Amino acid sequence: MIQLKTIDELRLMKQSAQLVSKTLGMLAKEIKPGITTLYLDKLAHDFIKDHGAEPAFLGYGGFPNSLCISPNEQVVHGFPNNDIIKEGDILSVDCGVFMNGFVGDHAYTFEIGEVKPEVKKLLKVAKQSLYKGIEQCIRGKRIGDISNAIQIHCEKEGYGVVRELVGHGVGRVMHEDPQVPNYGRQGSGKVIKDGLTIAIEPMINLGTEKVKFHNDGWTVTTLDNQPSAHFEHDVAVINGKPVLLSTFQYIYDALGIETDEEKPFQLDF
Ligand code: MG
Ligand code: MG
Repeated sequence: MIQLKTIDELRLMKQSAQLVSKTLGMLAKEIKPGITTLYLDKLAHDFIKDHGAEPAFLGYGGFPNSLCISPNEQVVHGFPNNDIIKEGDILSVDCGVFMNGFVGDHAYTFEIGEVKPEVKKLLKVAKQSLYKGIEQCIRGKRIGDISNAIQIHCEKEGYGVVRELVGHGVGRVMHEDPQVPNYGRQGSGKVIKDGLTIAIEPMINLGTEKVKFHNDGWTVTTLDNQPSAHFEHDVAVINGKPVLLSTFQYIYDALGIETDEEKPFQLDF
């Protein structure tokens, strides 16, 4: 059942989401060639705790870390480890916190130094598709409208849209109803209402949409071992329109990126 939130609940959720945003912004300054993903995990763990929150992934279904870090051909759910990040890699960093009774859950794929032009384009299009999906979060539309917008935007570039993993409702727990697939038909699925809170998270592959689930129970990679991109925002529907609870602005401040991509979805409340 979908748990619609009151405006007071949305205010609390925004705080949780913004703490994830700040965590990713803090990490953005640290992500560079030569460091390990386990080091990033430790930084994030301590940062979240220092802000009076709990890392939501740690212990979730037995997950051993505070971040999911998925380099290159890993799609999502990668474990932080002692592997060293290299120039030209890409790194999906997915972070969750639990604070004031609510979860924040969002993710960004970072470029390590200079990445190949085709990979840079994959990241650009995948992130654009996230906003294409967010644009559809309008009262009276349906979840399938979000899904379809993401799918169309990525498939017209020839990218593989992952089928087996999907976005989701988010709130008092990390995974609430409804599921939010990154593919689907316009006009299908649940109707979008005020107070809906969802994590939209396109997982987009340079090559085939097919993925492989590893027998560690978590790691997911592309079947053809080509790179995969992942971006995730927490979105609420307020007064009939999409409003971002999370922001990439802390990342952009850290990296010196200028964009007004979030502007249409910002609201002070
Ligand atoms: Mg996530
Ligand atoms: Mg998620």
